[in-house]
Amino acid sequence: MRAMKVTVIGTGYVGITTGVTLAYIGHEVTCVDIDPQKLALLRSGKAPIYEPGLEELMHLARERLKFTDAYAEAVPNAEVIFVAVGTPSDPEGNPDLRYVQAAAEGIGQHLSHNFTVIVNKSTVPIGSGNWVESLVRAAYEATHGKKARGHFAVASNPEFLREGSAIYDALYPDRIVVGTEQPEALEVLYNLYRPLLEQSFAEPAFQPRPATMKAVPLITADLASAELIKYAANAFLSVKISFINEIANLAERVGADITQIARGIGLDSRIGPRFLQAGVGWGGSCFGKDTAALVSTAREYGLTMPIVQAAREVNYRQRERMVEKLQRELKILKGRTIGLLGLTFKPNTDDLRDSPALDIAQRLIKHGVRVRVHDPIALQQARQQNPTLAVEYYESVMELAEDADALVLVTDWAVYRELDWEGIAKLMKKPLVVDGRNFLDKKRLAKAGFQHVGVGMGANPQLITAEE
Ligand code: NAD
Repeated sequence: MRAMKVTVIGTGYVGITTGVTLAYIGHEVTCVDIDPQKLALLRSGKAPIYEPGLEELMHLARERLKFTDAYAEAVPNAEVIFVAVGTPSDPEGNPDLRYVQAAAEGIGQHLSHNFTVIVNKSTVPIGSGNWVESLVRAAYEATHGKKARGHFAVASNPEFLREGSAIYDALYPDRIVVGTEQPEALEVLYNLYRPLLEQSFAEPAFQPRPATMKAVPLITADLASAELIKYAANAFLSVKISFINEIANLAERVGADITQIARGIGLDSRIGPRFLQAGVGWGGSCFGKDTAALVSTAREYGLTMPIVQAAREVNYRQRERMVEKLQRELKILKGRTIGLLGLTFKPNTDDLRDSPALDIAQRLIKHGVRVRVHDPIALQQARQQNPTLAVEYYESVMELAEDADALVLVTDWAVYRELDWEGIAKLMKKPLVVDGRNFLDKKRLAKAGFQHVGVGMGANPQLITAEE
């Protein structure tokens, strides 16, 4: 393998994972960010985010990793430049592309290698490849006073990592998608990814290669198709989650059990078992933003996307259902004390973007509830990011439970299953738990005296499946 000079712009969840993985497989990587705090942490060998395995991989790859805020240092010699900056939603649901624009212009100003492939790894709307190309070209020509033709190509390489298992996903991806209309760019990216495609790199001890992993398929596409693949994948997963939640709501009414239903349909190989866990619905930085962007792109072309739109509505309605469950059990919410377990949108990450827990907290506060919150990792970030949110933060679940009227499990952090539920039951006013992920051990909770309210659990509790 030939080690290539790679630059990654943006060291968020995607950028740092990409940079560290490419350095680990042998490339020389420079990561650029505008956030001095992140850079200081990275330079001292620390990961700026909570992501299992990231720091370990960074350590293994440290000799091939550099961090800087200077485009002038990172861009000129790079053979490949990844743009991995954030693309958050604006209030209308359109992606806010100002960070991508700044990155593209910074690249254009400093480009000087004979031929550089600029890769959009950020999730960007259809047509962004062309747009980035025009921004880079304009910035290059304004700075260098000559035509940029032949000096660079823009490709799309959407990212599919899951926070919480980002390193695993980066080393052992299901597929790598490359969108470009230029064969030279495809060749460069093929060589870059070769160790991953062929799985020829040495597996890190802490993240072994799965036994079934052979080679990774490379999907080549035109730019627009690659961009749409990313949106279509996230929209599909969002629809799948909302679908099972919709069925869960009916299961609750007719006296059925959604976990049995999910198993019953999930074993059908056409459907598959994943993304069929009923609960409070999705959150995080991607599904909400990307489904909104897809609907908004369709609107620009005179189309509606009723399925994706409905998945969004079902999802956000699901959060209100947690409040309704509490209302049903407690009758009056005003003046109650309710503890939320878990603030991050899923376990094993510290990401609080579009956090269902923070949304549920706000809804409960509106009802006059005193809300207490706990999270094993993200308490401090939550406090910093939500300075005006009137919740009480607890380091200890036992203290949070004291005299509480109910608990709501919002994030399925493994530690919550193993809590001292017997002790907790004794501390609470009334041992009631709304299990927003159907995650807790119902039998154990029942033994401890808990009333356990799940999602889509209308079935007669006597009817227990073989596994239970
Ligand atoms: P993030 O917000 O965690 O990180 C973005 C980083 O870019 C920040 O560190 C920021 O300081 C930096 N940045 C902003 N402007 C910059 C500039 N001009 N130059 C250099 N650095 C700059 O974002 P993220 O979650 O890593 O997402 C990045 C992109 O990847 C988004 O488009 C997102 O939709 C997509 N994506 C995210 C995930 C995920 O799970 N987070 C998965 C797949 C795709």
